[in-house]
Amino acid sequence: MSGWRGVAHARLGHVSRLYRDTGVVLRTYKLRESDRIIVLMTEGHGKVRAVAKGVRKTHSKFGARLEPMSHVRMLLHEGRELDIVNQAESVDSLAPLVADLDHMTRGISVLEAVDQMALDREPNPQLYRMLVGVLRTISTNPSALVVPAFFWKLLTLEGVRPELDACVRCGETTPLVAFDMDHGGALCRNCRSGAPLSAEALEMMRMILGGKLNAALAAPSSSSTHEVASHATRAIEHHIERRLRSVAVFEHH
Ligand SMILES: [Zn+2]
Repeated sequence: MSGWRGVAHARLGHVSRLYRDTGVVLRTYKLRESDRIIVLMTEGHGKVRAVAKGVRKTHSKFGARLEPMSHVRMLLHEGRELDIVNQAESVDSLAPLVADLDHMTRGISVLEAVDQMALDREPNPQLYRMLVGVLRTISTNPSALVVPAFFWKLLTLEGVRPELDACVRCGETTPLVAFDMDHGGALCRNCRSGAPLSAEALEMMRMILGGKLNAALAAPSSSSTHEVASHATRAIEHHIERRLRSVAVFEHH
């Protein structure tokens, strides 16, 4: 849309559309004196940036419903770049999440990853469902693998599922002793690069990605669960960095 038409629309005021959607608040930032920009992962409209007017006032109609991790049903006004939140009501309370510092830290790492992965106004209901699911799981399941498992599933959704069955370089199936996302998965002794991979951690990663998530989450915390977590964090960071680089290249052309 040209700038001129945008201005005309803004002046007419009644051209923009109202819509309803449900979303999770990923982050917020200040806008002017009493307003805030709310970044949401919605069920039907992908990542949405919307203005919540008066949200920073003491008696805001939104209360504390638009804080990071809030799960809200909203009525929004579609804008050219930023939408406007008209109404917001809580879907379910993720309060236990916010009350516990460890839950909070894990929840925030999930929000950050989704914020990096989700595209503006690009519907991705599966990502939305995964996000709601993992936030609920964090508040009920103490396993250290909840967030790492989410990261592996996120990468799979992005089409970068790691290869765990055979060496990514030579195809040898046993034993796989290293893990390197630069090559896309596990490596044998002859080809190894990246980080060392223990047999136990490999087995847990196979369980997570092979439909045995609950069994993996039942495993007690150990050096293997920590290892899986560190591979997952590195893999997601690697993927996000590569995406940011490809976006930067794209924007320079
Ligand atoms: Zn190999």
